[in-house]
Amino acid sequence: MKIKRFKIRNHLITIYRRIIQILSFILINYVILEIIFSINLIALDGFLKVLPILNSPRNQLSNGTGILEIIFFSLTRGIIPIFLVGILIVIILLTNRFFCGWICPIGTIQDVCAAIPTNKRTLKISTHKSLLKIKYVIVIFLVIILVPLGITALVNYPFFLQYRDNLGDLGSRPLAFFSLSEYIFVFFPNLIEQIIQTSSLAPIFSNLLVFFISIFYLILIILSVWYPRIYCRYFCPFAAVASVMSEYSFLKLSRSPVRCVGRVDCGICEKVCPKQIRMLDEPFEFFTGKGECNLCLRCKEKCPYKAIDIKVG
Ligand code: SF4
Ligand code: SF4
Repeated sequence: MKIKRFKIRNHLITIYRRIIQILSFILINYVILEIIFSINLIALDGFLKVLPILNSPRNQLSNGTGILEIIFFSLTRGIIPIFLVGILIVIILLTNRFFCGWICPIGTIQDVCAAIPTNKRTLKISTHKSLLKIKYVIVIFLVIILVPLGITALVNYPFFLQYRDNLGDLGSRPLAFFSLSEYIFVFFPNLIEQIIQTSSLAPIFSNLLVFFISIFYLILIILSVWYPRIYCRYFCPFAAVASVMSEYSFLKLSRSPVRCVGRVDCGICEKVCPKQIRMLDEPFEFFTGKGECNLCLRCKEKCPYKAIDIKVG
């Protein structure tokens, strides 16, 4: 009995996190609740729109969207959403990337994959560092596309109109191609529906670009069984934006120089970190994994010397 209680105490953070992740997943995809309980939860929409998570605007289980989608959508309309950008900055300053670790449905789906018992793998440090840059390249690419689109909407200048039309799908829903949320909640369900309706596999090959991106995302979901949070680490546009601000957040983690015995004698924190963060290379006062830490607190939970703490301020 005592051993059982000790085991539960040792996993308390994970237990709380799983409960919050499940509840958040259901609340964000609230249409599930509407169907089950025949209730109307449309009032949640406004709240969901400003959540710092990835949630496709076309998700049929949720009319809300994440704040980044709204910001990017506004830019395509020639609007600079200063108020929303302000909200995003305040949320990150106050909560850092807590929402990535505890709330985001795409993070939860990857955590479910990672919960499949396998030997977790790590990438070579140099490869890992190079891949981390991909998400920043995606955001820069999106901004390069979105700014002229916004100008299109403002000036109606023929060159820009032509430019928008030439972009095709990329012009009408630029974030979609880079959002795993779009593929899991919109593209894959629609594809399965079309396959069932037509009783053929033809819909799979109707758009080759989308076909190849789908294969890529499927591989990514499978890889997340061995490489936890692989999409968050390397490809998520929201992660790129949040990680830039993370260092300035009031909420971080710290490591006690008195209790921590270091990498050679322990190093458990780095081994259990799903984001392959080398926090032992960072200062004792605080660490954010150079903006990659999503405050899942797994390192804190597993540290045998209770050397990791939450630091506010
Ligand atoms: S698990 Fe704790 S004691 Fe071990 S290296 Fe990490 S912070 Fe230090
Ligand atoms: S550093 Fe700790 S809290 Fe941050 S992602 Fe890694 S395990 Fe989670």
